[in-house]
Amino acid sequence: MIVKLAEKRGFCFGVEDAIEAAQSAVARYGAGNVVSLGPVIHNQQVVERLESAGLRQSGELEELEPGANVLIRSHGVTPDVLERAKQKQLNVVDATCVLVKKAQDVVQRLHEEGYRVVMIGDRNHPEVRGVIGYAPNVVIIDRVEDVERELPFKERLGIVAQTTHAPEHVAEIIAEIVRRPYIELKIVNTLCLEVIRRQQAAVKLAAEVDVMFVLGGKHSANTQELARMCRAAGVDTYHLETWNDFEPGMIEGKTVAGVTAGASTPDWIINEFADRLREL
Ligand code: SF4
Repeated sequence: MIVKLAEKRGFCFGVEDAIEAAQSAVARYGAGNVVSLGPVIHNQQVVERLESAGLRQSGELEELEPGANVLIRSHGVTPDVLERAKQKQLNVVDATCVLVKKAQDVVQRLHEEGYRVVMIGDRNHPEVRGVIGYAPNVVIIDRVEDVERELPFKERLGIVAQTTHAPEHVAEIIAEIVRRPYIELKIVNTLCLEVIRRQQAAVKLAAEVDVMFVLGGKHSANTQELARMCRAAGVDTYHLETWNDFEPGMIEGKTVAGVTAGASTPDWIINEFADRLREL
């Protein structure tokens, strides 16, 4: 099999920083003494490696003992969670990505300036759940159909987007909003360039191959988006976590395969996959 790799793929700086923060916290406070509030990143294999190095995981702040070391993952949390951590006298190690932090600051500023904040994003994604905590009554719009149903009229709207969304998807929703008689719209670009570069590289590669493999966690929003874009480009596409998910039928009748990966997929998963595929 001929295997081509996307020029931009895998780990972004935000994920690298979060992993480094987790590793240095474990090195500093000792194995078993640092608890991540949810998975540090959306990649099960990396999370398992961190856990075997001594990082613990918990879903709830309330489960932690006063004085415990708590790691805030790359997706960030609401100010309310930070406040509760402070009240509980937890030692907070904040691994929120700087771009997610920027989105949180923007939402707070838009609210202070009198805008009704609109966030284009997936309401179930941890980044969105955290960011909307920085202003009251944030309206979440995930798809074009939500505009009619969810968006209040006659308001000054301040619009941001989930960092990992595709610009085309965000533009489509904004086009739907500007068709309506809003008095004022302020759009702040909170999209992540790391994600956009991976999307562009994936679509370019999809045009050169018979089949695309997009590697990354099943819950990783940016990996899902990469797979969606490759499919939209018209090529057979599989979203897999690791080589274990591969089945020979996926390359039946194909000669050239493209491989890309989401921003939370490590190189060792990508390289193992590409090497094994080349051997077929
Ligand atoms: S994809 Fe972008 S926003 Fe998300 S962690 Fe990486 S650098 Fe930060």
